[in-house]
Amino acid sequence: AEPRLVVVRASRISPRLTLLVLKDITERERVEQMRRDFVANTSHELKTPVGAVSLLSEAIESAADDPDQVRHFAGRLQAEAARLALLTSRIMNLSRLQAADEFTDEREVAVDEVVAAAADAHAIQADAAGVRIDRGGDRGLYVRGDAQVLGEAIGNLVANAIAYSPRGSHVGIGVKGVDGVVEIAVTDRGIGISEADQERVFERFYRADQARSRRTGGSGLGLAIVKHAVQRHGGEVRLWSRPGRGSTFTIRLPLIDPPADQVAPPRRRA
Ligand code: ADP
Repeated sequence: AEPRLVVVRASRISPRLTLLVLKDITERERVEQMRRDFVANTSHELKTPVGAVSLLSEAIESAADDPDQVRHFAGRLQAEAARLALLTSRIMNLSRLQAADEFTDEREVAVDEVVAAAADAHAIQADAAGVRIDRGGDRGLYVRGDAQVLGEAIGNLVANAIAYSPRGSHVGIGVKGVDGVVEIAVTDRGIGISEADQERVFERFYRADQARSRRTGGSGLGLAIVKHAVQRHGGEVRLWSRPGRGSTFTIRLPLIDPPADQVAPPRRRA
């Protein structure tokens, strides 16, 4: 691993000379540090919903004589519990992706099939939000990897595109193969992301201000999962966005040859 230097001590020896003691954080220490940070900020993020669940259950208890109040608090309790369930499953997925272990299910994956499945999985969310999904592009393209992990990554982009778009708008999902790479682009005409936030949205638990007020159910983990999932497949994610105009997230993955049984047999001459 290339050396990563951190300052351990800085002592001013003279007005023009400062002695820096540097330490090389090796890859292993860096991974260890990442793990510690991860545990620290997940525990922090879990505190809010866990606290809410406990407060709401107390509220239900003290409102026992008032059925309307009980229903109201029970509804909120269910929403918090659902949020907690989503958060924990995302935390587990992300921590699995950050761990160094190999994918258990690695094979040839048909890109148009994972994309179609990810789009279908969000049809109900799109309907409820009044957003139309337009899907198209190249077929018969393959990448090597774990279809479930890739499907979740694409699905997270689709879910965001819908969530941050106005009613009546369209979300586009395109697939294109160029120069040994497949590009899966998810485009929306929604609220967009400021330039400053574009640098940070892939960090875990980071949420832009507009998003915080707009969508309280978010976890801030969706894009971190996308980034790690794509990197684990030897690819990258690109982001184009303009506030008020929309965003395009593009996943780029190395293409492989189609599996032998998927190649159309050469036509025989009569
Ligand atoms: P969240 O659960 O908050 O959506 P993500 O990690 O998926 O978490 O996204 C991080 C933040 O990036 C969001 O809170 C939002 O501010 C911003 N964001 C992601 N996708 C979009 C999009 N398509 N349009 C506008 N903002 C987006």
